[in-house]
Amino acid sequence: MSIKVAVPKETAEGERRVAIESSVIAKLSKLGAEVLVETGAGDAAHIPDAAFTGATIVSSTRDLYQQADIVLKVQPPSAAEIAQLKEGSVLIGMLQPYQSPERIAALNAKNITSFAMELIPRISRAQSMDVLSSQAAIAGYKAAIMGADLAPRFFPMLTTAAGTIRPSKVIIIGVGVAGLQAIATARRLGAVVEAYDVRSATKEQVQSLGAKFIELGITAEGTGGYARELTAEEKQQQQEALAKHIATADVLITTAAVPGRPSPKIIPESTVDGMKSGAVIIDLAAEGGGNCTLTQPGKTIVHNGVTIHAPLNVPSQVPVHASEMYAKNLLNFLTPMLKGGTYAPDFSDEVIAGALLTHEGKIMNAAIRQLVEGA
Ligand code: NAD
Repeated sequence: MSIKVAVPKETAEGERRVAIESSVIAKLSKLGAEVLVETGAGDAAHIPDAAFTGATIVSSTRDLYQQADIVLKVQPPSAAEIAQLKEGSVLIGMLQPYQSPERIAALNAKNITSFAMELIPRISRAQSMDVLSSQAAIAGYKAAIMGADLAPRFFPMLTTAAGTIRPSKVIIIGVGVAGLQAIATARRLGAVVEAYDVRSATKEQVQSLGAKFIELGITAEGTGGYARELTAEEKQQQQEALAKHIATADVLITTAAVPGRPSPKIIPESTVDGMKSGAVIIDLAAEGGGNCTLTQPGKTIVHNGVTIHAPLNVPSQVPVHASEMYAKNLLNFLTPMLKGGTYAPDFSDEVIAGALLTHEGKIMNAAIRQLVEGA
C-alpha cells in the first residue's frame, strides 16, 4: 500500500498559504506516494481543487487525518488538529516549537513524529529546504511594496512637464534574506537605498545590489552566520549613530533579528521624533516584538506624522508564490525519506535529525525537551 501524504486546509486566522502545489503532487506521486488534499485547501491561495491534478480531494477533515501517514502543514496544528492526527503519524510544518511547548508535549503524547521546518540546519545541502529563506524573501519584497504604498511620495525620480521629482530614500536595517530582497525591490522601484547590518559580510551584498552601506563601526558577528546581541553600550552607540541617517529616510524598513531572542530595539521614540512628517516605518520584525519601541505588532499607528506599520505573517499576503516556494521546500525535505514508495527516513542524517522534534514518544530536540519539561 502506498504511503499517504495529506494536506489539510489551514485553519489559523489570516493564513492564506497551503502546503502543496501541483508540481509537488506530480513529484510525490512519482516517488510512490498518494497525495490527499482537503476540499478548499488552496482556495485562499487562489488554487482551486481542480488544480491539484493527481491528488485525491477529501471533503471531510476527519477522514483526511484518519487516512494520513504524513501530514504537511504551514502553521502549527491547533489542539483540535492534534486531536485528529492519527497516532504514530508524521507531521511536517513550521511548528514554532519555542512559542508553544504545550503543543510539542501534545504531539509527543500522541506518538507523532514531528519535524519543524524552521529547525533545518542552514547548510548548503539544505538550501532548497530552507523555509526561513523562502518566506523571508517574500516578506522582504512585500515590505518594500508596503512602504511604497504607504508613502505620500513616489519612489522613483521622475522628470515630467510639471517638474523633476526627487527619488525617495529608503533605509533598510538588517540585511539578512528579507533585507536583501527589500533592497532589491526598493531599487527596482527607483528609490535611493541605504542599508545597515551589524554583520560586516553584508557590506558587499548591499553594494552589489546598488545600495549604499551605512558604516557605523559596530560589528556583532555571532555564530552560524547570525548576529549576536549587542551590549548595552553598543546599543546606545548604534541608536545615536543611526538616528542621524534615519532622519533623512522617506521609508525605513527594519528586519533585524537575533535567533532565539526578542527583536533588538534599534529605533527608540526619539529617533522616530527626528523623522520627517510623512515618513513610513515598515517593521518586519513585528513578529518578535519589533525593532521600533513604538511598534504595535499587527497594527498601523501614526506617531508625529510618521506611520509605523507592523504587519504579521507577511508571506501569507503573497499566498500564491509563498505556497509554491514552501511546498517545494517540503518536497525537497521529504524526497530523501521516501524510498521506493515507503517512508524510510535516515535519522542519522543531520538535516533530518536537526528538524526532528518528537519521535516514538520522545522529544528529540534537547533545547525543546528542556523547555517542555520545564514548562
Ligand atoms: P535573521 O532573520 O536572523 O536577521 C536579519 C538580519 O538582522 C541579519 O542579517 C542580522 O545580522 C541583522 N541584525 C541582527 N541584529 C541587528 C542589529 N542590532 N542591528 C542591525 N542588524 C541586526 O537573518 P536571516 O535572513 O535568517 O539570515 C541570517 C544568516 O543566515 C545570514 O548570514 C544568511 O546569509 C544566512 N543564511 C544561510 C543560508 C544557508 O546557507 N542555507 C540560507 C539563508 C541565510
